[in-house]
Amino acid sequence: MIRPAIEKWYKENAEKTDAFARYLWENPEEGHHEFKSCRANADFLRAEGFEVKTFNARGDDAPDTAIIATFGHGHPVVGIYGEYDALPGLGQNDVPYRSEKEGFGHGCGHNLMAAGCTSAVCAVKAAMEAENLPGTIVYLGCPAEEGGCGKMYMLEDGYFDMLDCLLGWHPRTNDLALGEKLQMTMGHAVIEFHGVSAHAAVAPEKGRSALDACELMNVGVQYLREHCTSDVRIHYSYLAAGEKPNVVPRYAALDYYFRSKDLKSCHELMERIKKVAYGAAMMTETECVFNVNYIHSGCQPLSSMNEIMYNALLKMPPLEYTKEEYDYADKLFEAFDGTKPDKELTSLPTKIEKPRGEFYFAAGSTDVGCVTYKIPTARIFGLGMCRNVAMHSWGAVATAGNSIGFKAARYAGAALAECACDILAQPEKISVFKDELKRRLEGKFTTQIFPKKKNAK
Ligand SMILES: [Zn+2]
Repeated sequence: MIRPAIEKWYKENAEKTDAFARYLWENPEEGHHEFKSCRANADFLRAEGFEVKTFNARGDDAPDTAIIATFGHGHPVVGIYGEYDALPGLGQNDVPYRSEKEGFGHGCGHNLMAAGCTSAVCAVKAAMEAENLPGTIVYLGCPAEEGGCGKMYMLEDGYFDMLDCLLGWHPRTNDLALGEKLQMTMGHAVIEFHGVSAHAAVAPEKGRSALDACELMNVGVQYLREHCTSDVRIHYSYLAAGEKPNVVPRYAALDYYFRSKDLKSCHELMERIKKVAYGAAMMTETECVFNVNYIHSGCQPLSSMNEIMYNALLKMPPLEYTKEEYDYADKLFEAFDGTKPDKELTSLPTKIEKPRGEFYFAAGSTDVGCVTYKIPTARIFGLGMCRNVAMHSWGAVATAGNSIGFKAARYAGAALAECACDILAQPEKISVFKDELKRRLEGKFTTQIFPKKKNAK
């Protein structure tokens, strides 16, 4: 059984929490532009009696995008982080079939994450008051997880420094599982080529095409992939590729993500990509400017924290869904999988997954990686999405906007709250977490590249 004060808080605030998740879903915003989401999230926490500070994570003149909300005094200081950025080109109505609309959509369910994690800190506050628990609970509202690296700005500015440990939840199409994955180290660079424009038909010999350089660089990278280990991922898109076919493009630019298993190999990978870029510039007689935005680490899970988290999960009652919710999910399951769900494989994940008891490599990255190298962190994944539906798809958006997602957010939030209270009640665990993190990083190459602030002098 979880703490009665947590249960009571969720009982009394279910509607309010769901309405918050729905508000974020109805107002999907791009990373670093989560102005409405940030304001609504801050207002929720202020109304619950938290001390709330908001700020713009990148230091832009634009409105605030990040939140630090605290309650309590002294150690241990337990943080829970939320995200609220949406994805472009994923606008979708909350129906279990394809019904696209303009704009952004919550295809990664970050509206659920924000609602789940915000409600978690509120429930922790209620339990701290009821049981006189020591310490401080902190909510960190983090912008731009999807490639914008919001947490790197916040980490560099010291916003995570006050924490003794950090907890988080992310919705997913599986049962609820502990974070045991060593996610990938990720780098981001913008590669610009400068050439010479000329009439493409009348004076082609006078032109030097920046677009040619981009294309040759991408071809070069295709060949490079063959000579990388299988845990490397490189992907790109065009940021600029010329305007008209009859003008040799004097400017073209590429957006590159490159990922690998650790920081050392990611730095080395970047150096190899640079050689390809400069080679393309040499071939085309253009100039290359290779702008590295960031390199952040993968995630470092800790078995000492996972153990406490798993004990909290085991105290949770089963997650239940109605027939209508299963009907909705069945349609999505079929749309994505091509088969019907059955008794063995239902369309909605509701269970707690048994931990593997070991950490293992998995593709994908998240900017919380940079924090896990500094602050002991435990995360849980799962629930809130229909089984076999692809994340970052219309089906994920459709699920994040209704009660299937909202229920899961409250469920995961309660589990996080219980875990946070267990840590507050056993302050001696903090040094165990910190020692384990130190041990696991010993001898590892830990240099990350932090993004520059736009307005930095
Ligand atoms: Zn996500």
